[in-house]
Amino acid sequence: MGQTNKRMPAAFIGHGTPLNALRTNRWTEAWRQLGRELARPRSTLVVSGHWCTDGSAVTAMPRPPTIHELYGFPSELHQFSYPAPGDPKLAARVRMLLEPLPVHLDHSWGLDHGAWSVLSKMFPSADIPVVQLSIDMAQPARRHYEIGQRLRPLRDEGVLVLGSGNVVHNLGGRARHQQQFAHVAGRRPADLIAYETFGADALLAVPPPDHYYPLLYVVGAGGDDEVSIEIDGIERGAISMLSVLYGQKLVQPAPHLMADVLV
Ligand code: ZN
Repeated sequence: MGQTNKRMPAAFIGHGTPLNALRTNRWTEAWRQLGRELARPRSTLVVSGHWCTDGSAVTAMPRPPTIHELYGFPSELHQFSYPAPGDPKLAARVRMLLEPLPVHLDHSWGLDHGAWSVLSKMFPSADIPVVQLSIDMAQPARRHYEIGQRLRPLRDEGVLVLGSGNVVHNLGGRARHQQQFAHVAGRRPADLIAYETFGADALLAVPPPDHYYPLLYVVGAGGDDEVSIEIDGIERGAISMLSVLYGQKLVQPAPHLMADVLV
């Protein structure tokens, strides 16, 4: 990894099954490549589809525990640990950037698998601090995009803004996946925000929107920077692994990642 002397990218990663944390496959290899090619961040701010709250909260503890909100997975996964430090100063900075929106400094959450399944591949030595920002599910899609916009200055402060979710999170969503792909590639944030107006297929494809909203944070934080689709494809016929990077292109795009794009 290089220096932190330029703007950090903003990344949305489709995380798929938590089992990816234990596996080596084309997704995890792509995340590893991402970690190798990005400038080393000072800290990472993660918006994970697995931390949904009433109101906004940010993890503020110096040593966030690894959280296992998982059911029916092997014990190896329940014992998985990603001991990255927290960054209380970054938590306070996020709170300031989002003023006057009240943001609770949280000491009860930690790192959930939306964060650690991806970060354990990107930054396996767990030495880059991580802060999570929750998703206030009472807020409409536009608000999540606007919060992302407010987070944009962090990218000039050495912080990697990372959304972790999945844009299509149930069966029968391939058409939706194609549409979301097109809206990201075509820089149409308004269309991404208005996803509910796309009709029944849209609601079917993102029920509930907890795994979709992290994309809106990244689109907001990405702004007008160059956008690239670095990973694509469908996991288990249902989960889009679409991943988006603002502000940086991978030097070595892995062509095999695109093998079943938009099928
Ligand atoms: Zn998930």
